Amino acid sequence: MSLITGLRDLYPHLGFDDRPLAASCDDGWLGILHAFLDDADKAMAAGGTFMIQQVKEKMGCLHIHYTTSDVAPDASRAIADAHRLASARSFHICEICGRRGRLSNFGGLWKVVCSEHADGKLGKGVVPFVGPLDADDSYSPEADSFVAARPTAAEFDAAPIIDGWVVEEQGESGSRPWLYGWFFGKPDIGDGEHGHTSPIVQMDDMVPPRWVRTGGRLYRLGMYYPPAEREIRYWVQKLSRRPVAYGAPPGGSDDIEAMLTFLRSSGRVRSMKVDRMEQSYRAEQEGYELNRGEG
Ligand SMILES: [Zn+2]
Repeated sequence: MSLITGLRDLYPHLGFDDRPLAASCDDGWLGILHAFLDDADKAMAAGGTFMIQQVKEKMGCLHIHYTTSDVAPDASRAIADAHRLASARSFHICEICGRRGRLSNFGGLWKVVCSEHADGKLGKGVVPFVGPLDADDSYSPEADSFVAARPTAAEFDAAPIIDGWVVEEQGESGSRPWLYGWFFGKPDIGDGEHGHTSPIVQMDDMVPPRWVRTGGRLYRLGMYYPPAEREIRYWVQKLSRRPVAYGAPPGGSDDIEAMLTFLRSSGRVRSMKVDRMEQSYRAEQEGYELNRGEG
């Protein structure tokens, strides 16, 4: 069971109120659901009423039940197409983690899982399903980048890691963002060196994201730091002229106050710049306190 909040703001044409939607499936499929809702929201911009009745896993497949009224025929068709696509995709995406999966039978219980989750607590007596998956023969997961860009569990395990990653928009308009971070296990860059990837092709839709596919390769995403904290860590690490040790936090510790003091005393970063970093960091910390208070 997954409780999904904030749907009214994300999809203003779909008739959601403030109540969370209870989806009777695991989190690995929420990306499929959001892609469907996004398509439906675009179609409903022309007017009419759309209501989600139920979202659930049944016989291993994602079932989305909805009703519409006063909808133009082409919008109705677009939503039906998106609905078929969502259920076709669910046969190829692990319901638990969102990586590539296949329909498997666990002693009578059907579930789409990756190889890691087929070997886990569910995995005694797994029978991979072979044969026609559903009536929609026109669907090919390899031709659908939403599915094809997802790693298998084995590819994920073999991928290099980016620690302290941040998504960075590139300057030129129309170019896709890339990631900065400290790399581990990438052949052409030393372990713990800072660098950036090629442009992002697709990123994990789980929270927090665990992988990203770029033009060149797949990466596992390691530690994440909020942007202002990350910038302070970046400068302290850079001034040390050493790569990050694997498993160690960039900047050498988790004492951000000491890092700010170090940056001021180093004389190698302009004090106005350190002031700005400190202000951003304080605001960031306050933001987290506020969020915690509301939760
Ligand atoms: Zn999985």
